[in-house]
Amino acid sequence: MPEPAAPIKPNPIDADALLAWYDRHAREMPWRVAPADKVAGERPDPYRVWLSEVMLQQTTVVTVRRYFEDFTNRWPTVADLAAAPREEVLAAWAGLGYYARARNLHACAQAVVADHGGAFPTSAEGLKTLPGIGAYTSAAIAAICFDEQVAVVDGNVERVVARLTRLSDPVRNAKPLIGEIVGEAVPERAGDFAQAMMDLGATICAPKSANCLVCPLRPGCAGAAAGDALDFPVAPPKKKRPARVGHAYVLERPDGAIWLRRRADKGMLAEMTEVPGSAWTDDQEAPDFPMDTEWREAGEVEHVFTHFSLRLTVWQARAGEEPPGEGWWSKPGALSREALPTLYKKVLKSAGIDVKPPRL
Ligand code: SF4
Repeated sequence: MPEPAAPIKPNPIDADALLAWYDRHAREMPWRVAPADKVAGERPDPYRVWLSEVMLQQTTVVTVRRYFEDFTNRWPTVADLAAAPREEVLAAWAGLGYYARARNLHACAQAVVADHGGAFPTSAEGLKTLPGIGAYTSAAIAAICFDEQVAVVDGNVERVVARLTRLSDPVRNAKPLIGEIVGEAVPERAGDFAQAMMDLGATICAPKSANCLVCPLRPGCAGAAAGDALDFPVAPPKKKRPARVGHAYVLERPDGAIWLRRRADKGMLAEMTEVPGSAWTDDQEAPDFPMDTEWREAGEVEHVFTHFSLRLTVWQARAGEEPPGEGWWSKPGALSREALPTLYKKVLKSAGIDVKPPRL
């Protein structure tokens, strides 16, 4: 069935029922103001909401809580974050993936301080002018912090709408329609509505289960009525992810220190920390060791990026007198504070070196 040209009538999202459910069941989050506290006059802090939203684009709420506590303990305000050295912010972000977001996070904090006197703009349009804040994040902050009546549509909300409407297209082909359906339903309590939709998608209308019996939107839900809610959203046709290969070289000093270097300013994992390695290519090439010593193969590491998968052969050697090229020795106790992406933690692990998670 082709995508309908106009939103489905009547709108299947009953905002009143949803908000009544949210008032009773809102999840507690360290960046959130509970509905009752909001009624009492408490307002969400845009810095905390922004930070949480950027982090939540990466990973689950459970992981984000730890990183969020760490960031806000170290940098309680946007001005504190703006003043922090960039390397420290990148290192604190390590493990969350997508490091471009960490760089944008820092640039955004600096722009809020330099261009907006330390206060976030109060509209989605204004927020969108800041580095790294796109359509989704600007809408989320504007709705949650300032009750702007805009549609906030993340993956959870897309799934809920796909089930409510038995959407016949993959959601990526129907984003305008989903945005319109949600936008039409947004009430005055726009922030609570946005968070209620997110909570509903995270708890009741979850990716692999739909607990329709307790769902406040059940009366208007086409998926529940047809009994096939879990068939939605329909999956897009699968595209094969290209594969790349390469080598990583772990050089260890007798005291356990590892030779590290900084990645290039641009490209994948830019400015993060790595062990020396080859280029990542379509076909495996022979290893080109960074120094002449006795190397042994320590294993292989697989890692999946958004646009390709990577298999690295890991080589290990004892350090000679002269380390190769530019870089630094990182002692075992210091490794957890390095801006090492997950890929290189896996590489080190395959060479028998466990990088303990940073103390949060
Ligand atoms: S009724 Fe069921 S399928 Fe429909 S929105 Fe609620 S949980 Fe999801």
